Amino acid sequence: MSAPYDKTTAIIVCGGSAARMGLKVNKVLLPVRGLSSVQRSAVLLRPFCREIIIVCRREDESEMRAQLMAVIKDGGFTLVYGGDTRRKSVENGLNAAQDDTEYVIVHDGARPLATPEMVKRSLDAARKCGSGICAVRCVDTIKRADDNGDVTETLDRSGVWQIQTPQSFSFPLLKRAYAEDKSDTTDDAALIEKMGRKVRLVEGGRRNIKLTTQEDLALMEAFLPIKAHIGHGYDVHRLIEGRKLVLCGEEIPYEKGLLGHSDADVAVHALIDALLGAAGQYDIGRHFPDSDERYKGISSLLLLDEVMKLLASLGASVENVDITITAQRPKLFPYIDKMRANIAEHLSVNVSAVNVKATTTEGLGFEGEGLGISAAAVALLSLPQAQA
Ligand code: MG
Repeated sequence: MSAPYDKTTAIIVCGGSAARMGLKVNKVLLPVRGLSSVQRSAVLLRPFCREIIIVCRREDESEMRAQLMAVIKDGGFTLVYGGDTRRKSVENGLNAAQDDTEYVIVHDGARPLATPEMVKRSLDAARKCGSGICAVRCVDTIKRADDNGDVTETLDRSGVWQIQTPQSFSFPLLKRAYAEDKSDTTDDAALIEKMGRKVRLVEGGRRNIKLTTQEDLALMEAFLPIKAHIGHGYDVHRLIEGRKLVLCGEEIPYEKGLLGHSDADVAVHALIDALLGAAGQYDIGRHFPDSDERYKGISSLLLLDEVMKLLASLGASVENVDITITAQRPKLFPYIDKMRANIAEHLSVNVSAVNVKATTTEGLGFEGEGLGISAAAVALLSLPQAQA
């Protein structure tokens, strides 16, 4: 017995240009909360088909491939080039599908928020009546106007639907529609209507937006669920003579400095552990072992940069951090603002999201006796709630 989606192919159309949005890169390749629109589309469709065909522009091919490899681990996708028109792009996708394909799902790469329920509804309808087109009922009043903006007609909106994707079809039916009708179209279903065949609409969703303007990227971000993650870090280094004292990347004049494999910036180490902790990524020692010669004498801010790259790959963003340095001497008050600025720069956040405090222990304990300095930090991250 064959798997339910054994002879189903998904075609993701990513032919659009970045120009309309005033962007340098294709909008479908822009990561929003960790994943781009094309990555989200591919992850969505992968469980519903045996192969995904991505129709893309030549100039996007290498970036597209790299992004897809990151999310479609089984390599179950093929890239084909698009044409000048949507019609040509979809046709190129159809031609790349295997001959024995029974059903095809056509989806806009620029609709990152379609849901598995939509895909299922559309495929179920295609199995029953040859096509299943996601759409939403029109809720706004529709008017026709002339070029001056003067209304010429108010249309009856009852029974009016706005068409979205995913759209699913019987593969032989859609192939025949394209073969028999060579007219240009922005809508695959229209060709099937012209053949006199039934086209069935199924419920899409109002969140199933198509990235068209800059505003849509903000909407996409707003619609993607995120979760706050908190992390805590703590570190101690011994104070000795003959070493520099570096705290939050700031060199502080003092007769002693902190001992360590790197620059021993105890405050940045605590911060790194707080960030890694919030992201569920173990600790600083696992990422930067002190047996590694590469990290000998290194500025801890460079280690922080590496951690920020890791967080970016997880789609995490820093909400705020708070660092407390415990030292009997020297007085850190004059350096606090510089420390905040250093950290904010490396976290790529506003300085208001970074707080640095210094305290003493009234002479008690190793900090109070001037034997060492400790630091504690908390960090709050926003992480994507689900990876699709
Ligand atoms: Mg340390």
